Amino acid sequence: MIEPLPHLAAMSAYQLPPQDYAPGKTPILIGQNESAFPPSPKALDAAQAAMAGLRRYPGSDFAELRAAIAEAHNLEFERLFCGNGSMELIAALTRCYCGPGDAVLSSQYGYGYFKTAAQTVGADYISAPEEGFRVSVDALIAAATDQTKVCFVANPGNPTGTVIGRDELERLRNGLPSDILLVIDEAYGEFADGTQQRCFDMCDQGNVIVLRTLSKAYGLAGIRVGWGYFPPPVLATLRKLMPPGLTSAMSLAAATAAMRDQAYMRGVVTETARLRDGFAARLRQLGYPVPESATNFVLCPFSDAEKAAKADAALRAEGIVGRNMGSFGLPHCLRFTIASEAEMAFVGDMLEAWTKENGG
Ligand SMILES: *Cc1c(COP(=O)(O)O)cnc(C)c1O
Repeated sequence: MIEPLPHLAAMSAYQLPPQDYAPGKTPILIGQNESAFPPSPKALDAAQAAMAGLRRYPGSDFAELRAAIAEAHNLEFERLFCGNGSMELIAALTRCYCGPGDAVLSSQYGYGYFKTAAQTVGADYISAPEEGFRVSVDALIAAATDQTKVCFVANPGNPTGTVIGRDELERLRNGLPSDILLVIDEAYGEFADGTQQRCFDMCDQGNVIVLRTLSKAYGLAGIRVGWGYFPPPVLATLRKLMPPGLTSAMSLAAATAAMRDQAYMRGVVTETARLRDGFAARLRQLGYPVPESATNFVLCPFSDAEKAAKADAALRAEGIVGRNMGSFGLPHCLRFTIASEAEMAFVGDMLEAWTKENGG
């Protein structure tokens, strides 16, 4: 029997959370940070229209979508590129710069896929401690070694929901050796856009990349489209690893139309933030020390892992599928994505009843 490469034999596959709930209940799926709202109707119309041309291969270099992103964000077309979800870009960047003996650096509660991406190329994964559920720039700088090639920072963070300012990211960039690539994963960037200074121009330094996605604020997780803003030499290397034309014509059409409909996305973000702040306030009233979230989810810390597991089970018995954070190193926490107003009211009611009986 042929044997896989040793580093692949040693790793386990990236696991999505179990979606199980009590049979017969109407499920409330709030475990994967998907949008509470449907995508722009214009995106759905565009996907439908694209079906007429399915005999043809889609374009190979995301030209229309990149033009739409360039316009929406006032960025340079040439420095934009896209992938099948930002996950594909994370994986490809890791393959560009890391191999056995190299290291990928991220922070303690960094997004789980950074670790998987490192493992697939045989690189070590180093995580720097966070402080109070926030990325610590000092800890990241201290954890970098001669082996470190790429540093991933999700900002806002997942699963913490917290954000660090641009001044902190600049301090990180200046504190890391210049030959370490800094990848700022802004999967939830649209939720922080109003309050945080944008970071795209940090890419001018040549060793910073900013990633975003259509999966969260745009309500299009199902089309699998993400994008990034790159220094040109990094993008030239990345493109060698991206098979041309791999993103479906329907996905490209939907993403392009959604990007052109910024007003719709902004409306979703505003409403999601309102629901989030209301839900977070309710959890805090129940005594849960919920960190300030700049995303479409909240992290709910319980007093211990057993309490979190019990609450998770009780909620699933009502059809509510949140996410246990054990795989992120936070077994005492559950993460709840913000869903519709009625759904969040129900989740709040159930959690309140459970907490009164069991203590959080
Ligand atoms: C959801 C998420 C992603 C993945 O986004 P896709 O574009 O759907 O692949 C990347 N990073 C973080 C931090 C996320 O939470």
